[in-house]
Amino acid sequence: MNAAEALRALRLRPKAELHLHLEGSVRPATLVRLARAAGSPLFPDLAAVRARRRFDGLPGFLSLYRDVCRLLRSPADFALLARDLTARLRRERITYAEVYVSPAIVDRLGLDWLAVRDAVEAVFAGHERRGHGRIRVLLDAVRHFGPDAAHRVLDLHARHPWPRAVGFGLGGDELALPARDFASVYRRLDRLGLAPVVHAGEVGGPDSVADALRWLKPRRIAHGVGAAGDPALVRRLARSDVALDVCLTSNDATGAFPLPRSPVLALLRAGVTVTLATDDPGLFGTTLLGEYRCLARLGATPLELAAVARSGFRAAFAPPGRHQPPRPATGSARTRS
Ligand SMILES: [Zn+2]
Repeated sequence: MNAAEALRALRLRPKAELHLHLEGSVRPATLVRLARAAGSPLFPDLAAVRARRRFDGLPGFLSLYRDVCRLLRSPADFALLARDLTARLRRERITYAEVYVSPAIVDRLGLDWLAVRDAVEAVFAGHERRGHGRIRVLLDAVRHFGPDAAHRVLDLHARHPWPRAVGFGLGGDELALPARDFASVYRRLDRLGLAPVVHAGEVGGPDSVADALRWLKPRRIAHGVGAAGDPALVRRLARSDVALDVCLTSNDATGAFPLPRSPVLALLRAGVTVTLATDDPGLFGTTLLGEYRCLARLGATPLELAAVARSGFRAAFAPPGRHQPPRPATGSARTRS
């Protein structure tokens, strides 16, 4: 089997995706619709959305992300995003996904978290009920909002647990604050039944990844490719169970790692567990299969492509049983204390 055949097989096979942000899954057409409804001049048409996809580094991307979030004015708008996301999962035959949902962003927008959560939950539950696959949630805090805001995300979850949430992550500007500032946040996760994950090694180098490992003890690292500059750290990752959820198009678009310079293959061949994901497919204009195509372009063999696809299921926080059909999440009703 050559790489082209392996990619064709992958297109048809059930896949898992573990690094996917709800807001970043917005389709360009939805963005135009949201902007119109909000009376915003930001995204007047599809050409304007495409133009905004060419941004200047990670700060440029975060500014685009902020503009997208500013258009979200109601739980129904978040339901629109969730529908864009589930339509994509169906189209791409992604039968298991872990989706970052950010109570911190909802809070900043002045919206009621529980109302937003219920709107998103209804869409995800419908997707599962119709047998399209399982979705689990990673509650997301924003690093540059600081540790107090991250604690508030956990306070919310402690008061009103969302059964669909299986993990907690830290995204945003990796260089804004050091990992150790969030150590007390991550120490609460075990008691709340949330697995730890963190964005690190995206624009940060090996020190950022090493700090994240030391202070936050993640089970997976979103991106993590910045670890490649330190052979001892790479060996440590290879010995550990920590997987890297790598997003090649995202790294290329933000300039963090232009595709030809991505160290993903070196990490994989050093024995590090790697999964592939799209990060923000609506904003980067990519698909999960597109990410596998990038990996093949870098020289991955069919066996390596298949191994990465398997890791997507193995590194999941709530992996489905081998022969188990997709099941709806239990206890989707709002819980009030
Ligand atoms: Zn991300």
